[in-house]
Amino acid sequence: MTRSWPCDHCDAAMHVTVSQTVERDRLAWSVSSACASCGNAEEQCGRDDMPPQLRELLIDQVGLVILQADAETSQRSRTRMLAVFRAGGATIHESVSRYRALTNSGIEGTPAEMKLLADRLTRAGALLRGPEAS
Ligand SMILES: [Zn+2]
Repeated sequence: MTRSWPCDHCDAAMHVTVSQTVERDRLAWSVSSACASCGNAEEQCGRDDMPPQLRELLIDQVGLVILQADAETSQRSRTRMLAVFRAGGATIHESVSRYRALTNSGIEGTPAEMKLLADRLTRAGALLRGPEAS
């Protein structure tokens, strides 16, 4: 399913493509929309978190993946792994919940979000499974 929105110029449905990548330890995203009926085209891009509406659209297009870490081997890297979540903007409480999720059923996110997290956690000494399609 591809969601789209109406063209500003002619009101026809625009074809919208969203992408998200990891660039130098940050997320980068872009959205391009094109109108087949009048040729109107728009591009938008940004860094870090994407606007929620665009993230939904991205998930429609690429799906979600799960990142998991082994609970036993993570134990010795726990402090450094918590620091990764803290550096990503989570509170101490949130970091602990994310660590628990990671070492249980896993954390779900877009492929690029989980790749970035996997890179950071691997540098912190985590032994990971995934990202795998959820
Ligand atoms: Zn148009």
